[in-house]
Amino acid sequence: MSFPNPATSVKLVLLGEAAVGKSSLVLRFVSNDFQENKEPTIGAAFLTQKCTIGERTIKYEIWDTAGQERFASLAPMYYRNAQAAIVVYDITKPASFIKARHWVKELHEQASKDITIALVGNKYDLVEDDTEEESLRKVSVEEGKGLAEEEGLLFFETSAKTSYNVNDVFIGIGSKIPEAA
Ligand code: GDP
Repeated sequence: MSFPNPATSVKLVLLGEAAVGKSSLVLRFVSNDFQENKEPTIGAAFLTQKCTIGERTIKYEIWDTAGQERFASLAPMYYRNAQAAIVVYDITKPASFIKARHWVKELHEQASKDITIALVGNKYDLVEDDTEEESLRKVSVEEGKGLAEEEGLLFFETSAKTSYNVNDVFIGIGSKIPEAA
């Protein structure tokens, strides 16, 4: 007789500038849904979702934080005990990439030493049909990858709208979480 492995609980926090698509990534992952005009998150939202990776089941306990500056001081409350973080920027908004860099620095200074961090450049759908002459893309793949390599982060470009790469972010993080977590 075989028993299913108990789920490994993983506390995960999303950080990033307002409107980069944090809540939309969570909505895609948890409900496979997308809303064109999402209401901004106030403070933080909590959701859970299970994810099977090979033989393992990971139960994500997801804290989706508000991106507005006035909530920034609350962020440590959410990342302090987190085993994983997703730092999101919008590939059409350079300021959001600068903000992502700050979040990564803050996590490395203040969060748990063994936190798994994924850097995510969202809204890929807005650039996928662009020509080289004319593109909405303002942050290159190389810039994103470069930051991820420098800081030891997982890296993905995603679209919450088309669901491109969204599950891969959570599978990628889960694969890095140690067995006994
Ligand atoms: P948050 O403030 O970071 O949580 O961002 P939201 O999830 O509230 O998204 C902000 C806006 O961007 C909403 O109007 C979303 O519909 C839109 N949005 C989010 N993700 C994507 C995406 O991948 N592609 C496009 N085109 N729009 C997106």
